[in-house]
Amino acid sequence: MPMTQMPPAHPFDDDKLREECGIFGVSGVKDASSFVALGLHALQHRGQEAGGIVTHDPTQGFNSARRFGYVRDNFTSTDIMETLPGPLAIGHVRYSTAGSKGQTAIRDVQPFFGEFSMGGAAIAHNGNITNADALRRELIERGSIFQSSSDSECIIHLMARSLQRNIPERMEDALRRVEGAFSIVAMTRTKLIGVRDPLGVRPLVLGKIGDGWVLSSETCALDIIGSEFIREIEPGEMVVITPEHGVQSHFPFRKQKPRFCIFEHVYFSRPDSILGGRSVYETRESIGRELAKENPVDADLVCPVPDSGTPAAIGYSLESGIPYAMGIIRNQYMGRTFIEPTEQIRNMGVRLKLNVNRALIRGKRVILVDDSVVRGTTSRKIKEMILDAGAKEVHFRIASPPTAWPCFYGVDTPQREKLLAATMSEEEMRSHLGVDSLKFITLDGLYRAVGEAGGRNPATPQYCDACFSGEYPVKPSDMLAKGFEMKEAAE
Ligand code: SF4
Repeated sequence: MPMTQMPPAHPFDDDKLREECGIFGVSGVKDASSFVALGLHALQHRGQEAGGIVTHDPTQGFNSARRFGYVRDNFTSTDIMETLPGPLAIGHVRYSTAGSKGQTAIRDVQPFFGEFSMGGAAIAHNGNITNADALRRELIERGSIFQSSSDSECIIHLMARSLQRNIPERMEDALRRVEGAFSIVAMTRTKLIGVRDPLGVRPLVLGKIGDGWVLSSETCALDIIGSEFIREIEPGEMVVITPEHGVQSHFPFRKQKPRFCIFEHVYFSRPDSILGGRSVYETRESIGRELAKENPVDADLVCPVPDSGTPAAIGYSLESGIPYAMGIIRNQYMGRTFIEPTEQIRNMGVRLKLNVNRALIRGKRVILVDDSVVRGTTSRKIKEMILDAGAKEVHFRIASPPTAWPCFYGVDTPQREKLLAATMSEEEMRSHLGVDSLKFITLDGLYRAVGEAGGRNPATPQYCDACFSGEYPVKPSDMLAKGFEMKEAAE
C-alpha cells in the first residue's frame, strides 16, 4: 500500500462512537518493541487505522516504524522488528485524531519524535487537545514549523520552547498550556514517562514485568504480556520511570475533581479490562440489570447486538428472568481487509457482518440490547432483519442514555445534527427505528451501575458524561471558535 494512503475504512461499522487511540510503553526489558507490539495488538479495538513504535537502544539510539493497518499485519515481521531494538519502547494505535479525519498521512501517525539540546524524546497520546488550533497558530507565528496535522505535535513544539533543564520538566511546562483530555506515554533515552490530564478523562494504567515497567491504556494489554497490574495512573499525575529510581510520581497540575469518561465503562474499554477496581464486564452486566429495572417489558427472549451489547444483555436477562439467547450471530472474520466494496455489496450493509438466528427468533417477542444509538442507521437495519426472520415484536433496550452531544475528548463522533438523539425525542426515535418500544438507561441509572450508589451528583458530576448531558468538563475552545453552541447552563 502506498505510504500516503490510509486503508479502506470499514464500510459497515460507522454507527458507533469510536475511541481514537490506544497507547502502550515498556522499559527495562529485552526487546521492548516485541512487548509493545503485543500490547498494541491487545489495544487494537481502540484504533485500527495505523500504528507506530519508537524504541531506544544504548548503542543504536532511537528507531521508529509507523505503518497503516493492523498491528498484526505490520509489527510481526522480523524485517520490521529487527529495526526496533532496545530495552525502552512506546507505541500507539490510532483511529483518526483531530486534524486529518479521513485523509490520514503517515506523518500524522504517532509516536512523534523531537530532538532537544539535552537529547531526543518521543511522545504518543490518547485524547484530544481542545485548544490545539489556538496553540498551533501561536506557535507558527513564533516560528515553529509543524510536520503533521496532529494536535499532539503542539506538545513537542511547546517542549522545544520551554526553558526547563530536562525533558520531564519541559513536558510539564508544555502540558500546563494544553487544555483537553489526554493520556500520554513518552520516552527519552533513559526514561519512560506517563501522564494523565488533571480530570483523568482518558485511562492509563501502570504494570510491572520482571524488573521492567509498563504503561498501557487498559489492563487487558498488560495481561497479554504477562505483566502484573499495579495501579491506575492518577488524574493529573506524571510518572517518570527509570532503572535507578523506579517510578517517581509528580503532580504538575492544579488539583481538580476527576471526571473519567463514563463511556469507557459502556463501550470503549475491553470487557476483560479492569476500570476503577472492577471488571468492565461486571460493570456492563450491572448496566443491563439497571436497564431491566428501569425499563421492563414482557418478551420471550433477550438478545444482544453483538459483540458490545452482550454483557448488558446478560445482565438484563438475569434481572428480568427472560431467557438470554444469541439471536444475532456476528461473522468474526468480517474485517477491514475484506474487500473494496462495490455498490451492490455495500447495499447489503449490516447483513455482511451480522446474521439473524432465524430458528430462534421466529414468532418471538424479542428484546434487543445494544450499547448505544448514534445515527440509528444500524439499529434500523437490525430491526428489519429481526422482523424478516419472523419476530412478533422488537423492543430495543439501550445500555447508555441518548447520545445527543459530540465528544471533543478523543472520540470520533458525528456532528451534532447527525446524532439521532440530538434532533428527536425518544418517541420520535422509536417511530423512526420502527420498533415496538425503545428505552434508554437513565444517566442516574448508568451512574448507579458504574458504582455510584446515589446516582449522578448534578452539582459536581463524578464522570465526564458530556455526550449525554451536554455538560462539558473542559471548555472545547477550538470548537466554540468554530461556532459550536454549548448547552445553556442551568439556572
Ligand atoms: S463526551 Fe462522552 S465519550 Fe467523550 S469523554 Fe465524555 S463521556 Fe467519554
